[in-house]
This record gives sequence, C-alpha cells and structure tokens, in this order.
Amino acid sequence: MAKLNEKPEELFKASEADFKSLFEHVGCGVYISSKEGKFLTANRALVDMLGYESKAELLAMDITHNLYVNPDDHLRFQEMIERDGRVKDYQVEFKRKDGSPTSVLLTSHVRYDKDRNVLGYEGIVLDQSQRIQMEKELRAFQEDFKMLFENIPTGVFISSKEGKFLNANQALLDMLGYKKQEFLDIDITKDLYVRPEDRAKFREMIERDGHVTDYEVEFKRKDGSTIPILLTAHARYDSQGNVVGYEGLNVDLTQRKLMEKELQEAYDFMNKIIQSSPNAIMATDLKGNIMLWNRAAEETLGYSALEVIGKMNIDKIYPEGMARKVMQMLRSSEYGNVGRLRSYPMVYVRRDGEVVEGTLSAALIYDSKGNEIASVGSFVDLRERLEMERALRRTQEQLLQSEKLAAMGRLTSQIAHELNNPLYGIMNTLELLKTEISLQSKRRKILEMAHSETIRLSEMLRKMLSFSKPDQEERQPVEINSVIDEILLLHEKQFKENDIKITSTFAKGLGLVNASKNQLRQVFLNMIANARDAMPSGGTLTVTTSGNSDEISVEISDTGIGIADENISRIFDSFFTTKDEVKGVGLGLSVCYGFIKDHGGDIKVKSQVGAGTTFTITLPVSANAASVSL
Ligand code: ADP
Repeated sequence: MAKLNEKPEELFKASEADFKSLFEHVGCGVYISSKEGKFLTANRALVDMLGYESKAELLAMDITHNLYVNPDDHLRFQEMIERDGRVKDYQVEFKRKDGSPTSVLLTSHVRYDKDRNVLGYEGIVLDQSQRIQMEKELRAFQEDFKMLFENIPTGVFISSKEGKFLNANQALLDMLGYKKQEFLDIDITKDLYVRPEDRAKFREMIERDGHVTDYEVEFKRKDGSTIPILLTAHARYDSQGNVVGYEGLNVDLTQRKLMEKELQEAYDFMNKIIQSSPNAIMATDLKGNIMLWNRAAEETLGYSALEVIGKMNIDKIYPEGMARKVMQMLRSSEYGNVGRLRSYPMVYVRRDGEVVEGTLSAALIYDSKGNEIASVGSFVDLRERLEMERALRRTQEQLLQSEKLAAMGRLTSQIAHELNNPLYGIMNTLELLKTEISLQSKRRKILEMAHSETIRLSEMLRKMLSFSKPDQEERQPVEINSVIDEILLLHEKQFKENDIKITSTFAKGLGLVNASKNQLRQVFLNMIANARDAMPSGGTLTVTTSGNSDEISVEISDTGIGIADENISRIFDSFFTTKDEVKGVGLGLSVCYGFIKDHGGDIKVKSQVGAGTTFTITLPVSANAASVSL
C-alpha cells in the first residue's frame, strides 16, 4: 500500500502493484486479447469461470473457434466493437473447456497502438449463469404461483381494509357467480356478507391477532342465494407495519354441510333404531363406564339415560362380581365366538332394588386395529314370560293333582260304597246284640265299644264319600253369620272343657251368599275342629266376619301350635295330616277347599309356629239376594 510521505512516482509504482493485485483478485473475469483471436492475458477469475486448469491453457485457446457457443455471437461482437470501438453488457454464451455453456455479460473496448491501429481488445466478463438461473427460477416460481392461484379449487382473495377486493381467483368468482370486474366493484360488507356483523367481527379478530383461522360465515352469491364459507385470512401490512388489507382463502362448505347433515341424519336414524328397540341396549367403555342407554334400558332398569351416561358404572346394576364375569365370558370362546355372548340368563338390580330376570346378549367392540374399545349388551326382560311359565307350571301341577284326586276320589268312593253295606250290617247286628245283653254285663261294654268304633268308621266313610262325591244340595241364599253362630253355640261346651275361649265379632249388614248350607257348615265345623286340635292345652278361638257389597270374609284364628313352613303348602292336599291315625285322615281341609272354590270363593292361611293360625275364607255376595242383619 502507498504511504502518505512517499513521492508521486513511488506512489504510482505502488498503485501499479495495487492494480495487478486487483486484476488478479477481482471477482469478475478480466482479459486482454489480440485481434487475431487469442487471450494475451486473463485473470484467475476468468480461468475459473471457463473451467481451464491454468492461465497458460486458456491463453493457448483459439477464441474464434472455441469460446463462443454460437459463432454468430462472435461475428456480432467484432462488428460492434469495430464500429463503435466498444461493446457494453453484451450477453452471450461462452463454451467452457468441457464444452458446457455458461452465460456471461461481456464489456469490452478496443486497444490501439500509437498510430491508432487496432491491436486487440480488453475488457471484463461477468458470470451470468447464477443470475440467469435465479431469474429462471423466479419466473418459474411466479408462473407456478399464478397457476396455483388460478387453478386451486378454493377461493383466494386479496382485499383492502376498506372493503373492496383487489384480486380474486377464478374459483372464488365461480363460487359466488361474479365476473372479475363486477367482483372487484362490490362492497364486501354490504354485498357479500349475509350478516354484515360477521365482517365486523372478522376485522376485529384479524386486526387483533393478525390472522383468522377457520371462521364460519355465510356469503351472498350474485344471484342472492347464500353459501356457507370457511374463511381463513391474514393481514397485509405496509412498510410501517400498518394493516392495509387482507388476503386469504374462502372454502365452500356446501358439500361439507351437506355431508354433515347426511351424517347427522344417519346418526339420528341409527339412534332411533337403538332407542326404539323393545330390548334394553347398553354400551360401556372397557372400565364399565356407561356410554349408551336406550329407552328400554331406562324402563327396564329404572335409571334415566341422563343420570347414567358418563356418570355411572355398569357394575352397579349387576349382582356382585357379575360384571367381571360377563367380560370373562365375552373374551372366552366357550359361550359362542370370542367377543360374543348369546342369550345368557341374567338378573339385574333395578334402581328400586327389584330384581329383573331375563337374558343378556353382548358383544365386544373393536377399533380398526382389532383392539377392544367398548362392549354393548342387549337385555331381554323375561319377567312376564317367566311369571307366565311359572303360573303354567303351577296350573299343570294343580291339574295333575286334581287328576290324582279324581282317581283317588273314584277309588275312595268305590271302597266306601263297598264298605258301607257290610258296615251297616255289622252296626245293625251289634245294635241287635245290645238289646239281648244286660246293661250290667261286661260283654255289654265290649259290645258298646265295638258299636262306637263302627260308628266312627261309618263317620269316616261318610267323609270319604263327601270328598269324592260332595252332597249336591241345592243352593240358596245363606246368612253366614247365623251358620257360624249356630256351630259355635253347639261347640261351646266342648271348648270350655278344653279350656278354649271363644270370641266372635259378626259384622252387621252382610250380604247373603248363594250357597249350600250343609257344605258351609262342614267347612266351618272342620276349621273349628282343627283349631281345637291345635290348642290341646287351651287358648282362644276368634271368629270374625266382615265384608262389602262384593264379598264376605270369615277369619278363624287360633292361638295354637301353628303350622310349620314346610307344611303350609301341603295342608290343603288330600290325605295330608300331622295328626295321629285316630284323629286325622287329612281330608278335612281339602274338602273345605273344594267346597269354597266351588262357591267361587277362596281360603288363605297365615300361621306362625307356636303362636297360632288364621284361616280367611272369602265368599262372593249373591247378586240377587237382599242384605239382612243378624
Ligand atoms: P286332618 O285334620 O284330618 O289332619 P285337615 O285337612 O283338616 O286334616 O288338616 C290337615 C293338616 O293341617 C292337619 O293335620 C294339621 O297339621 C294342619 N292344620 C289344619 N288346621 C290347623 C290349625 N288350625 N292349626 C295348626 N295346624 C292345622
């Protein structure tokens, strides 16, 4: 570098060295060439630009034939430089050593000798390849961008803050039915927004946040029809950072709205199917949280969907441990296919605690990868059916029982008949014998014993006969109170002897019963005799009558030994007795039951061992009999 205190010629020398350095290191190619077409000198940058190994190699190259890609460009260069003495910013393509083209900007002027003869040329070469490449890319980018803007099937716009469109693509014009110029003229707030307040809100959001994403609005088309739009935009700023307008996308939501509507309709339809199923349908996640609960589930189990969905666990409606067992069965292959359970007998506990019986069919629900995600169950409430089946079974049993009874009845009546005649023969003979033997005779006593035993036997035969063939006495209006009163009166003495107190309460104004008086007598007699037998060491017999216009009830209570639970269902069976052979045959209650049923009534029993028994007999009031009071 030149120093300040150096002389001018030294300064000049120094600058020549500086120029040399500049020549070598400058970023563009610098050269001097001869008129004949050889480089006389060239800097490193040019050697590199043209891809030569060394300066010497470049100097040996023939410019006329080997430098220009297009020989015409060389001719033009010579023509221009010879005419004007200089060429400025001449864009040509040079051939590199390997033959590949490179774009350059050539600026050159002529070198003369002192007689102004052309010696050659000198100049600079600027590598253009990079700039050209960039320009090409920029153009391509702009082209792509334009294509995208025009062809994207989404509305794209640029708008001013004041509410005019500055540009819009074809898709947006088509969407809204405008020609371009018409569209640029509309007032966005007034002509485009169905609700102008949406535009105000949009501006408020975009000014605040700089952008608005997925904002749902409704636009008006040119023809006045409306279209749902999803608006996404951001603000455009000037160099000072002030908002000058907006640019963004308008997506037509018509199709999506339509699909949403269809989806909603499909969902509603499915939901209606589930809701209207007569069977309870319930779905839960894998932890048992309830996700679905249809109307039948509400009715069958007493919980409303509102209080269980997302709030209650399914195990609450299962008996202890059952929820887990159901999941185990679902996952096992023993109950149908894995993931399925078919018509498995199940009981649930209703909200009010009542147990519901039925069958459960269930399935596991899997995601697309086959992982369990939920389970669904359908429960058929079989309470009514099971109740019917039970009633049917009872009726069948009763039928069987009555068949048995009928058969037994036939047999009994035959036996009774067969026995009756010889028995009367024996009885008559004994009566006869009695008259022939004196009262004091010992044999007379034996005879009397034999006679009383035959009387007992004949009494038993009478019972057996009335069991198999009840007396068919004609029915008549009967006053229950007086029938019972009569019987109690007859037994008063006997009961007193047995230390039994009788209390009776007769309701007044009871209706009459159309009945066979004899049969009713037999019924009450039997009941009272049973009560007496149940109180061997005394007690109280309470007889109460009551009634209304439809029926009369007679309650016969004792404070006796009571009936064991296991016997209570059998006391009305024929030949069921807990008494010893002498006292009981077990026909009393079964005959009573038959009589009362025959009269359209019913007998019920309540008993507690050690405390006593109450029989309640109900009989219908005869429709055409006037009521009387006792
Ligand atoms: P029997 O009196 O011949 O045994 P029933 O048909 O009248 O036949 O009675 C059947 C059974 O019912 C009796 O053996 C007895 O066990 C029971 N029973 C009936 N009435 C009473 C009562 N008031 N208290 C206790 N047990 C009774």
